[in-house]
Amino acid sequence: MSPWKLCLFSTKPYDKTFFEQANNAYGFNISFFDCELNQKTVVLAKSFDVVCVFVNDNVDAPILEQLKAQGVKALALRCAGYNNVDLNAAKRLGIKVVRVPEYSPEAVAEHTVGLMLTLSRKFHKAYNRVKEDNFALNGLLGFNLHKKTVGIIGTGKIGQATSKILQGFGCTVLAYDPFPQNKLENEHFKYVELDSLIVQADIISLHCPLTQDTQHLINDKAISMMKNNVMLINTSRGGLIDTKAAIQALKSKKIGYLGLDVYEQESNLFFEDLSNEIIDDDIFQRLLTFPNVLITGHQGFFTQEALTAIATTTLENIKCLNENNACPNQLEI
Ligand code: NAD
Repeated sequence: MSPWKLCLFSTKPYDKTFFEQANNAYGFNISFFDCELNQKTVVLAKSFDVVCVFVNDNVDAPILEQLKAQGVKALALRCAGYNNVDLNAAKRLGIKVVRVPEYSPEAVAEHTVGLMLTLSRKFHKAYNRVKEDNFALNGLLGFNLHKKTVGIIGTGKIGQATSKILQGFGCTVLAYDPFPQNKLENEHFKYVELDSLIVQADIISLHCPLTQDTQHLINDKAISMMKNNVMLINTSRGGLIDTKAAIQALKSKKIGYLGLDVYEQESNLFFEDLSNEIIDDDIFQRLLTFPNVLITGHQGFFTQEALTAIATTTLENIKCLNENNACPNQLEI
């Protein structure tokens, strides 16, 4: 069986480095395209068996139809989330879809806790002050994580890894998940209803996928139930938070700290150097004006360990499909 040809869209230099390294064990013929996959670029996938995409490539039905017409057999997501793929269309067209369900939950969990600590201890401000020989502490007053109540929404791999770290800090961890894994309870956290979590938590951290049910899970109503001065952290998907509602809550001081690694409209911004551009997104720009908002550009996954695992699992997934073997990471609907 001849090895499949694959192409990566939205390739960054680090993707190329880690995929080339992992491919030493597989020997696939790989082409790397910098551009994202869209109606204009889909033609580049002609003559490839597999198309590999990332979080912000929009793989909707028209794109899938064109991929199919060009002979593409499989779509390999080099990420865990798949909200950007029309799985019904893929199934109808017979395009197999594989993903990397787990690469390093600890990478995202550690980033999550990093956002919490940076906001609670104001590291970002302290760093800049000390660089300017300003050693005054006024305005840097923080709070302990110890004995705070943290609400984890979504107790999958990343939610669990985050809970474990927070237990080490001496936090009380409450969790909500519509599919609770009761064996985990007591060990790392206590399951409660969503409303109860929202009402009790000093810090709320989102770790559920973006679906029709979770779109704007954090909206005006949810925010109104939160404690005053609550800390809200989202390292999951931007669409979980109604950003306009969050801005209102920052203005009214209901939200005291907001840490985001993801943003609703991030596909227009993230992963690019726009430092010499005019950013035409007034909502994002407003977020940046708040002193208590910390934003990172979807870098939770960005560790050496995670990138190695992403490249290896993606190539292993493709090998499975190429050899007509059952792939445990194939998405079925
Ligand atoms: P996972 O599939 O292991 O866990 C997701 C959990 O969310 C599951 O337990 C599921 O039951 C639960 N869930 C589903 N609907 C829910 C709802 N309405 N309310 C609460 N919980 C709900 O996924 P994971 O590996 O832990 O990843 C979580 C999310 O993190 C992913 O969906 C992805 O969007 C995001 N992510 C972000 C980065 C990053 O770099 N920032 C990296 C990887 C993943």
